[in-house]
Amino acid sequence: NIEHMHTQESLNYMKQVYQTVKERNLYETEFHQAVKEVFDSLVPVLAKNPHYRKQAILERIAEPERTITFRVPWVTDLGEVKVNRGFRVQFNSAIGPYKGGLRFHPSVNASIVKFLGFEQIFKNSLTGQPIGAGKGGADFDPKGKSDGEVMRFCQSFMSELCKHIGPDTDVPAGDIGVGAREIGYMFGQYKKMQGGFVPGVLTGKGLDYGGSLARKEATGYGTVYFVEEMLKDNALSFQNSTVTVSGSGNVSVYAMEKTQQLGGKVVACSDSSGYIYDKRGIDLSTIKRLKEEDNKRIDEYVTEHPEALFFEGSSGIWSVPCDIALPCATQNELDEMGAKILVANGVAAVGEGANMPVTQEAYEIFLDNNILFAPGKAANAGGVSVSALEMAQNSARIAWTFKEVDEKLQVIMKRIYRDSMEAAKEYDSPGNLVIGANIAGFVKVADAMISQGVI
Ligand code: GLU
Repeated sequence: NIEHMHTQESLNYMKQVYQTVKERNLYETEFHQAVKEVFDSLVPVLAKNPHYRKQAILERIAEPERTITFRVPWVTDLGEVKVNRGFRVQFNSAIGPYKGGLRFHPSVNASIVKFLGFEQIFKNSLTGQPIGAGKGGADFDPKGKSDGEVMRFCQSFMSELCKHIGPDTDVPAGDIGVGAREIGYMFGQYKKMQGGFVPGVLTGKGLDYGGSLARKEATGYGTVYFVEEMLKDNALSFQNSTVTVSGSGNVSVYAMEKTQQLGGKVVACSDSSGYIYDKRGIDLSTIKRLKEEDNKRIDEYVTEHPEALFFEGSSGIWSVPCDIALPCATQNELDEMGAKILVANGVAAVGEGANMPVTQEAYEIFLDNNILFAPGKAANAGGVSVSALEMAQNSARIAWTFKEVDEKLQVIMKRIYRDSMEAAKEYDSPGNLVIGANIAGFVKVADAMISQGVI
């Protein structure tokens, strides 16, 4: 019948475009992975709406509007000259200015920024805010660098990036390795290069110069709000649950904080050196001090809390028995092995606070075992949502209270959950939030692109 024919044609079309994406972006495995997951979800949408194919929408959406690669030279405290590579991928501006973070980490390369930029298209669309998608960063390792070195690096990075961004064109923010300090140095350099006080050019700014209250907490809080909504729908909650949260950066810390506020017990968290297990519940004030102020490794926690245990190797965290697992560190941190152990230990729900922390193989294990699963591009959209609220406050020259922003964030996260659930149901995958989030995010961007002509 006709429907079956459309599905076959859509599947072939999808596979053929995916093949082209792989050939055009050789060896960019993270980018392939992110594209494949979204494309797979879209087959029923393409079958029902043949005009998307006529519009070559998959070809267009998988090709960034523009990619900028640049040299970032800087001088160490000892007077040595170093050179890093900077990136900005301006992926899609169909529904608003490019928006997305900057990542400073030695693993940053074309594949990583492209996968992150691609995810950002659907995430930003899901927020309901008028923001397009971009991502950037550098293969700079902030670890072990002095404050002066970080400042000089940020200044050099912005000396080039400032030519390509602006409050109505592209609005970067933070990501791994880029927090309030780095945003501050980059904002200062932008002001010096371009002239004028333009707060809307960056988000995640300090509260003294145009930052938004609750931006720092937003990604972690938002992830927990989203997961709580998913749990509620299944007669579960964070109350009295045991939770593991990987990472100990900005996303992880505030996911732990909100989990504790909702009555959950966080028993483990990690950094790149290993993980800690504290069966009485992690003392968050210690983690915050070690990580936000002292820049220490996580094993220091055990010195202050002798009842806790430290284990080398961060992926071991998934062997800690828990009801809810929140991977909040980095891409592909939870693989098949981790998923199998979590399932064997009776995990009920997994929520991605990081971007693509769960591998495809691990996700399939959760799917096969009916584990509730909240995909990152929906569950971690709270950060960029509050970035959009920061832009709104900057444009209006006003500042909302913490409570006002936090309430808006909760409304946004609940709406993302509902929209994803509805899209999943409409396209015959009820309850599947991965498919639902991809479809709900895609449709709005695709329709906006088509409305604006072949551009
Ligand atoms: N880097 C965050 C993300 O992955 C936030 C981006 C932003 O606030 O622009 O969504």
